[in-house]
Amino acid sequence: MKRIGFYIIFLLMVFTGAMITSALWTYNLSLHAARGNLKTAATNMAINLDFTLNHLGLQKDYFQKLVASGEWEAVAFLALYGKGGILLLHSNPHLIGKMEQDPFVKRVLRMGLPIEHTMTLKTGEDVYVLDFPAHLRKGQGIEMAVLRIALHTYPSMGVVRKARFHLTLSLGGVGVLWVLSFLLLFYMSRSYRMENELMEQKRLALLGEMAAVLAHEIRNPLGSIKGFAQFLMEKRKEQDPEKGYLQTMVEECKRLEKLVNDLLSYARQEALSPTSFSLTELIRECLHQTEDASKGEKITIQWESPEEILLYADRDKLKQVLLNLLQNSIEAEEKGGTITVKAYKENGKVFLWIKDTGKGMDQETLKKIFQPFFTSKSKGTGLGMAIVKKLVEQMGGELHVNSQLGKGTSIQIILPIQLNRKGETEPL
Ligand code: ADP
Ligand code: MG
Repeated sequence: MKRIGFYIIFLLMVFTGAMITSALWTYNLSLHAARGNLKTAATNMAINLDFTLNHLGLQKDYFQKLVASGEWEAVAFLALYGKGGILLLHSNPHLIGKMEQDPFVKRVLRMGLPIEHTMTLKTGEDVYVLDFPAHLRKGQGIEMAVLRIALHTYPSMGVVRKARFHLTLSLGGVGVLWVLSFLLLFYMSRSYRMENELMEQKRLALLGEMAAVLAHEIRNPLGSIKGFAQFLMEKRKEQDPEKGYLQTMVEECKRLEKLVNDLLSYARQEALSPTSFSLTELIRECLHQTEDASKGEKITIQWESPEEILLYADRDKLKQVLLNLLQNSIEAEEKGGTITVKAYKENGKVFLWIKDTGKGMDQETLKKIFQPFFTSKSKGTGLGMAIVKKLVEQMGGELHVNSQLGKGTSIQIILPIQLNRKGETEPL
């Protein structure tokens, strides 16, 4: 799925790059073409005018008539500058005879080469201007003058406008494509996740069925074996060497029983059956049950609860969670230590802590503890934490694990306080 996403994004990037480059290129090309068109038109006009003026002489209203006739398209104004910047002719007759200190005109007069530039008219319009060196015949000699052809850019910019439209369209299209691709990826990843979850559920359901059949088939004969082994063991005298074998048989049977029960708890999809009960009482019960295991290991158990906490939840499932966590903590205290159990109520939630000073876990182990069948113990089933996670999530709670190698582990469970049918957490 990740790879498909990567390919789609990669293709999109290539496509975006190609589209934008091509649109920019077209835009640039059209800009050049438009500029070239203007230059050609203006130069043609200038050569024409230069020629005509030399034949007709400087007729005052010539430029005015020329612009008004519309013979030449897109002319904004025409002017002819003489020595010192005096306006010899202009399409606006009021300006004729005025002096203008124009740097471009001065430069053309000095160098004798045409210059093109743009200028802004009083109307705010930007026009293209060609200042062209003209040669006026006067008497015997030739006088240098400057023909100024100012053209509206609007008509020749049509192609640029089209290119700009093309550019905008490309950008918009690419943007829409990106949005659509992200939506597609989002829905694809969601359906992929849902499909996986469904498969996992199916797998679990199948495992549950198998486990139920197995448990049924194994439990009864196992119970008989354990019972008879126990019976025979009790009949033997202490010094009888066979007593030890029978003891092993009983212990191994117990281990198998635990495995079958764990598998059943993990795989069975059982609905919650909530009741009202005291959490304080439940914790006390669990501590009592694990007392024997902790005594042999010189483990101190501290139990802190500032107040009695009443809950409406599935008592048996919560008990299973607590017993599994306590069991792990006791097993982690290889050299003895302290296990602290804490519970309090805050903001409509119950916070439960189980901390130990045991061997702790490294990051690698920490990542795997919820995987079914992951165990670092020779006689572990690897199902304890997977069961804990499943049950806490089923109860709508959260589970947080903190651990430091060699220092200990702390596990926090946050459960919502649910109300019973009477709208209370009090026992019914
Ligand atoms: P099991 O106890 O059968 O090994 P669990 O699912 O209960 O299986 O735990 C999985 C693994 O997580 C354990 O084998 C252990 O490595 C690690 N683990 C769980 N709880 C603790 C703890 N309190 N301290 C150190 N390691 C722990
Ligand atoms: Mg365990």
